[in-house]
Order: sequence, then C-alpha cells, then structure tokens
Amino acid sequence: MHELSLMMGIVDQLRKSAAENNIKKISKVMLVVGEMTMAVPDALQLAFEAFKEEELFQNAVLEIRKEPVRGECKDCHHNFGVEDFAFVCPNCSSPNVRIASGRELYIDYYEGD
Ligand SMILES: [Zn+2]
Repeated sequence: MHELSLMMGIVDQLRKSAAENNIKKISKVMLVVGEMTMAVPDALQLAFEAFKEEELFQNAVLEIRKEPVRGECKDCHHNFGVEDFAFVCPNCSSPNVRIASGRELYIDYYEGD
C-alpha cells in the first residue's frame, strides 16, 4: 500500500525530530500533500492510525493540507494550475511543461511536548 510506506517515512522523521527536541508526545502533525503524489488523505489517516500504539503518537491528530499541481511552461514561462493532469500550456499550447509544484509530501510542522 502506497500510503502506508509514505506514512512510515513521515513517522520516521517525526520520531527522529521528537527525539532531538526531547518531545515525548506529539499532539498535532500538519502534513502537506501534493496532488501529484496521488496519496489519498483518508488512506494516510488510516495508515497513521497504525502507529497510535506508540506513546509518541497516542494523542496525535493528523491534519492534511492538499497542494494543487502547478505547471510551468518551458517555452513561454507561464505558470498555471494544472487540471486533470493536462500538461499543456494554456497560454501557448506547448506540451513542454515542467511540474512546478504538487509532487511534495512533507511535514509542515508538528506540535507536542
Ligand atoms: Zn507556454
């Protein structure tokens, strides 16, 4: 399952960071998920539940912010929101488009003590 492996990576980062900052219990995690990652928020929530047996995550609430996909045209440098994964520049119709954002999955911040 895609989301479970993604969540394992996130949980690893949280464990490491919490240990470094002497945090024993995490209360909130804000996760940013780009739409290009194809990760389903509900599945991420479910995957996160699997780690709740750990004291560190027992009371943690996972919040997810979706980041829309944006493209940038390599020909005219137009930056635009990509809909339905149509990577064609709406300005000059060039298919020469790079993904400017939407591929990211990272922890924006977390809270705990
Ligand atoms: Zn263009």
